[in-house]
Amino acid sequence: AKRIAKGSHVFFSPEMAEEVQQRLQLTNDLQQALARNELVLHFQPQLQLADQTVVGAEVLLRWQPPGKPLVPPGHFIPVAEETSLICDIGNWVLQQACERLQHWHERKQGPEHLSVNISARHFHSPDFVARLEGLLQQYPACRNRLTLEVTEGVILESLSESRTRMIRLKQLGLNLSIDDFGTGYSSFAYLKELPVDELKLDRSFIRHVDSSQRDRAIIACILELARELDMTVVAEGVETESQRSQLLAMNCPSCQGFLLACPMEEADMMHWLAQ
Ligand code: C2E
Ligand code: CA
Ligand code: CA
Ligand code: CA
Repeated sequence: AKRIAKGSHVFFSPEMAEEVQQRLQLTNDLQQALARNELVLHFQPQLQLADQTVVGAEVLLRWQPPGKPLVPPGHFIPVAEETSLICDIGNWVLQQACERLQHWHERKQGPEHLSVNISARHFHSPDFVARLEGLLQQYPACRNRLTLEVTEGVILESLSESRTRMIRLKQLGLNLSIDDFGTGYSSFAYLKELPVDELKLDRSFIRHVDSSQRDRAIIACILELARELDMTVVAEGVETESQRSQLLAMNCPSCQGFLLACPMEEADMMHWLAQ
């Protein structure tokens, strides 16, 4: 029989019990945060590379506990994703995003387009499509102005189920984007089966675009593929002028990143847009 090395723990340790306890606490706190309206949407503009016009903005969630610093999504989304709480949070984000888009549209202000991140569990939840149908009825200006960003993990969960859902979502007038494209384990094969409108080139490819011939080759290949399949491409995490000009030279359609604009609250985005 295998011997267990001294000092290694098998199934349970006090540290693990504590971690479970912390997650439960966080889940509880999040549930209350949602009920108390402590979650806020931030927005990061997306720009066309050729002429710097704003094509839309990505919705990025934050948690503002009263009297405490803003909590980034990396601290609470993964925990929320362990339970159906992510569906409640996701539905709240969708509702808020649609409400904002409708509001801006009626006042002829703000970005004309929003992208919302959708977790796998939420995407595959039974009433996901029906809820979106309801939202588009309530906020008709969102038709053709809302993009759902899903990761390759969503698709891997079930290709045929994802396909069926995506077709229905397209019929409702939603756009679909593959987030963090190129980082998953999947192949290109699923792209030919799915009604995808956009690929978001992961930041890991952009980081060395100005210095690495290999990264440029991969990006060029993805750009070409997207053109052939009639999809647009957004480069994520553009931080330097040199990255931007390299992407421009490669005819990448649009980009997003700290160089152009950081995620910001609505009022700040309105000021930013006005300039
Ligand atoms: P993501 O969808 O890949 O979002 C991009 C992340 O990169 C954001 O982090 C954004 O602030 C950051 N970012 C943007 N430009 C740059 C740049 O130039 N350099 C660098 N280093 N980072 C940049 P954030 O806001 O902390 O969000 C992290 C992740 O949390 C998101 O990754 C997304 O997966 C998730 N998330 C955020 N909001 C939501 C939401 O409403 N629902 C769900 N399900 N997930 C969300
Ligand atoms: Ca995203
Ligand atoms: Ca991303
Ligand atoms: Ca990411």
